Amino acid sequence: MVTLSLVVPCFNEQESIPIFYKESSEILKNLEQKDIICEIIFVDDGSKDDTAKIIEKIGQTDDRVHYIVFSRNFGKEAAMLAGLREAKGAYVVLLDADLQHPPLFIPQMLNAVSSGEFDCAGMLRTRTGDSRIRSFFSRCFYRIISKLTEMEVTDGEGDFRLMSRPYVDAILSLSERSRFSKGIFPWIGFRTKWFEYENVQRIVGKTKWPFKKLFLYSMDGIIGFSSKLLSVASVCGILAFLASLAVIIFSIIRKLVWGVPVDGWTTLICVISFFSGVQLLTIGILGQYLAKTYNEVKQRPHYLIKDKK
Ligand code: UDP
Ligand code: MG
Repeated sequence: MVTLSLVVPCFNEQESIPIFYKESSEILKNLEQKDIICEIIFVDDGSKDDTAKIIEKIGQTDDRVHYIVFSRNFGKEAAMLAGLREAKGAYVVLLDADLQHPPLFIPQMLNAVSSGEFDCAGMLRTRTGDSRIRSFFSRCFYRIISKLTEMEVTDGEGDFRLMSRPYVDAILSLSERSRFSKGIFPWIGFRTKWFEYENVQRIVGKTKWPFKKLFLYSMDGIIGFSSKLLSVASVCGILAFLASLAVIIFSIIRKLVWGVPVDGWTTLICVISFFSGVQLLTIGILGQYLAKTYNEVKQRPHYLIKDKK
């Protein structure tokens, strides 16, 4: 008997969920005819609209539907983690509630993974319809993170994927607080089959990822998955030290040869600002890693559950 779980993080998705439920039910009906047992797990990430009410209502009328309601917004990463922990299927799919991850690709992904050849099948989206600036920054980010972490993270790789049980268990075995799936997936390894699909625009509701949130999320990923920025800080320190040696030697020689007593105000200002800049930069980098460590050490739960079925 094959079992399949759909994990759907939702944050203020009251318009999307009814459409999502209708579309995915159609797909699941076909799968159930092939004796695949399906469940849908909605995770309400502290929505301020009627999302929780809607998923509770669907849960009451449909036995296959389970839900988790968070006590507040803990972020998509926490919502995905809660859903994965709850999923009982031998295969698990992660999907956004806004239909930007069309459920119609599920059978295709399931075929790839159930053949046993792959542990995960992911849908790689194109950037059609995305704004130029956003695509540019995304591409830069993927390039930087691939370099820094020495892991291959391709542009367009998202959370839309179907995973085997061992793959899900591997994800769950990573217990870090600040989670960054785009790093976790390549880190755990396993074989992944990629299918490309044309980017779909959101039909209802609006994106929950303004630029600032995306930027902070990418910094999270870089700091969480690589300690290379610390090396950058050290290299800055060494270069600054060498530069300061040159300035010292030059000043002493100048004093001995020409004996200039005052003068040099500009040089002084330049040197002071340069070194304070380098110091602040390196302290800032250290601070980022310290903050991450502090956060991990506190060992707080990833999320708190208010209601569940
Ligand atoms: N989401 C979430 N918590 C958040 C932000 C987003 O659970 O704090 C969910 C959201 O409801 C959606 C998915 O994550 O199902 C992707 O979010 P969105 O569509 O806003 O992102 P985009 O597609 O614009 O990158
Ligand atoms: Mg979306």
